[in-house]
Order: sequence, then C-alpha cells, then structure tokens
Amino acid sequence: MNICVVGCGYVGLVTGSCLAHLGHKVIAVDIDEDKIAALKSGRVPIYEPGLQELVAEEMDAGRLGFSTCLAQGVGESDVIFICVGTPPKETGEADMSQVEAVARGIGRCLNSGYKIIVNKSTVPVGSGDWVAMIISDGIAETGGCSHPGDGFDVVSNPEFLREGSAIPDTMHPDRIVVGSSSRRAIEVMKELYTPILEQSFPYGDPCPTTGRKPHWMETDLTSAEMIKYASNAFLATKISFINEVANICEKVGADVTQVAKGIGLDSRIGSKFLSAGLGWGGSCFRKDVMALAAIARDYCCTTHILDAALVVNDLQRVKVVQKLQDNLKMLKGKTVTLLGLAFKPGTDDCRDAPALTVARRLLELGCKVKAYDPKASHNAKREVPCLITTEDPYEAVSDADAVVLATEWPELVNLDYGKVASLMRGSLVVDARNALDRHLLQSHGLTVVGMGR
Ligand code: NAD
Repeated sequence: MNICVVGCGYVGLVTGSCLAHLGHKVIAVDIDEDKIAALKSGRVPIYEPGLQELVAEEMDAGRLGFSTCLAQGVGESDVIFICVGTPPKETGEADMSQVEAVARGIGRCLNSGYKIIVNKSTVPVGSGDWVAMIISDGIAETGGCSHPGDGFDVVSNPEFLREGSAIPDTMHPDRIVVGSSSRRAIEVMKELYTPILEQSFPYGDPCPTTGRKPHWMETDLTSAEMIKYASNAFLATKISFINEVANICEKVGADVTQVAKGIGLDSRIGSKFLSAGLGWGGSCFRKDVMALAAIARDYCCTTHILDAALVVNDLQRVKVVQKLQDNLKMLKGKTVTLLGLAFKPGTDDCRDAPALTVARRLLELGCKVKAYDPKASHNAKREVPCLITTEDPYEAVSDADAVVLATEWPELVNLDYGKVASLMRGSLVVDARNALDRHLLQSHGLTVVGMGR
C-alpha cells in the first residue's frame, strides 16, 4: 500500500520505518526542514535502539522516503497517518493545533480517490469526528465537496509503543486497536497490518520474539480514543500506587522491592509497572492523565484517582531531594551528580524527565549539579542550561558529595563502583530507581539510600 506518515518524531519515524519494513511504500512528511534534510542524508535525529539501521535499510530498499511537502505525501498515498504532537496546554487539555493544521492541510490536498486518514496522535475523546470536520472544511476551501464515507474516512489507531523498545513494540504489539464507523476503512487497516497480525514479515523480523500473534480489536472511534487515555492513566496510576506503598514501607521497615515482587506474582495484578522509584516521566503520561481529567471536567465527572496519581508522582521527585537533605544536611555549595537524565533508559527523550526536576530543585538550593547520560545530555542541557554534563560517567562523579542514580541505564547500573567511590568526595549514593546492588556498593564504602526500602 502507499502510505503517508505526517510527523517524523518518536512515533512517526518508528511507524513509518516499520510500515516500510512490512512492504508498504511510505513517504514521511514533517514541517521541520532541518529534520527532513537530516533524514534524507541518512541521519536519524532522535535516539531509539535499531531505528538508525531500520531507516537506512528501508531508504536503501526504496520503500521509505522523506518530504516537507504534505501535498506530495497525500497525493501519493491511500492511507495517511497523523503522528504529530499533542502537547499539554496550561489548562491540562491537549493542544490540538498541530493536528488541526495537518487535518486542514490534508483536506486542501484531497482531490481524487478514496483516502483513509488515521489518527495515531493521542487525541481527546471525540477528536475523530472533529478531524473529519476540519478535513471537510479544508476540502471546501479549495472548492471541493467531500464528506466522511464519501471521499475519505477517519480512523483512530492509538499508539502504545514505549520509547526505548519502540521497534519491537510496533512489530510485536499486544493489540492493534482500530476505531471507525466505516467498514471499508477498517478492512483496509486490517490488510495494512496483516504482516504484524500474522507475525509473518516479508523482509525478516528486525527484532524476533516469540511469534505470539497480537489481538485485533475493532471499536467505534470514541472508544479507541478512550482506550489510549485509559491505558496510560492506568499505567501511571499503577506506578504511583507502588510509590505510595514504598513510602509506607520506608516508615514501617518493609522493603518495597520484595513487596512489589510478592504482589506482582498475583496474576490479577502482574509484575510490570510496579517498580518504586523516582516516578514516571516522558512526553505522554502526565499530558494524557491531565487531558483525561480535563475531558472528565467537561462532562462534570470527578477524577480523584487520576488527580492522586499526579500528586504522588510529583512528590516522588521531591523525595529524592529530601533524602539528599536528610543525609548531607546543607545542600548549598555541595556537588551532586545525576547518573541518567533521560526519562527512562534506551531513549534520548527528556520531556518531563524526573531527573530534570531534581536537577532544577538542586540548582535552586545552591548545589553544583553534574550529570552523565549515554544519550540524553544534549536534550537535557537545552532544558537546564546550568547542568554540567560530561562525556564520561567517572568524570561526572569526580568530587561529588553525593550521586543519584536517576535513570537505570544498564551501563550506569554496572559502573565500577569501587572506582566511583575512589573518585567521589563524599560517599552517599541515592538509588532513585532501586536498581543498584547495594551490598556491592556498601563493600566499597558507599552509603546507599534507596526508595521504599
Ligand atoms: P514528537 O514531538 O516527537 O514528533 C512530532 C513531529 O510532528 C515533529 O517532528 C514535528 O516537527 C512534527 N510536526 C508538527 N506539526 C507538523 C505539521 N503541521 N506537519 C508536519 N509535521 C508536523 O511527538 P511524538 O512523541 O512522536 O508523539 C506524537 C503523538 O503520538 C503524540 O500525540 C503523542 O502523545 C503520541 N504518542 C507518543 C508516544 C511516545 O512514546 N512518544 C507513544 C504513544 C503515543
């Protein structure tokens, strides 16, 4: 099939290159000329494991191309994926201006044949019909006349990939959700995803797993949009739940890592998303929880659980600073090193990264804040310019009064902590992800403070 992906960010680039790998011909469009120039020259401007290689492979095979011209992308395609950002507004609602601009632009270039417009951006419930209306307006602006079901249909196809494992998540998802009122559009979407549904890849599986087939789920538009928000809200709440339990564990002398293991073994609960620590971050959880709460407000629904998930998460970030204060007392004039800056391992994404909240607070309190991250230093520096980033983790910990493990990159978990101890001025390590071997660190004379243990 001929496919256009609009928006070459974390979702669009992965979606486009994976769909190309299924054998589709994909043109990926972005408004950012520098980004498209970089991609055309073979440079992937974000870090996602395996993405650079996959993009190169699909470009070489002639299945993936890039453009800044929406009209070209729409003109050459049967299915158009909207993958642009939906960042939060100050009110918590999703800012739909990027989606609106793209929908209008698509409408203006819809002049022949039947096309399917797929909303992969995370959008407020009800946006599918709204996008169809904007597309119709765009068509009318050029003197045309077309309505959903006639020249085009709108489909909601929420994205569930996790940064850091985005390619395997796309190739081997638990489920593919497609919401639409159009039978014709749903059938096309099923055909498009057949290699993933059948787990049979014409050019080989770039990240082989068990071969378990994903669930195919057809819904109405609104339910598909709600599934995305409810999934993220549930995951965020699960982490906030274990963090609240961790805080109680700390007081009563229990170890939250053992408690989480014990409750996670219950198949009704499951072990994933039960790691206590610095809390969740990233571009999606906060904005999606806030957007769901904003939608609820519009309908006069209360959101006690969603509100609590946000509050607990914010408190976890403060807790790390409190642990430093408890141990070092006066933070003014101290040097604190953050190991890890990205919101999670495996990505360079620093959007709403907990490490940056900690960095900002430490700077406000008069600390010198040094940091090392394998991939995210550049993005972090853009947000917190006073951060002193280094190219080497051992350089970062030199002369530190305390070290905080903020992102559990394997290479940071497995540092030579004997060397770390010899380079630090102090001996305090705050293991904000409960990922370190505390006995090993203690054997090197380090004092380890975890979360909820
Ligand atoms: P992103 O900010 O990384 O990428 C968005 C891209 O869209 C940018 O490259 C931007 O230049 C481009 N863009 C903006 N306006 C445009 C326009 N008018 N025409 C063409 N391109 C335009 O965002 P992302 O992280 O990829 O997220 C995209 C959407 O997917 C969001 O709604 C997000 O909530 C959702 N989502 C993200 C993830 C994730 O892990 N990042 C996971 C699931 C869903």
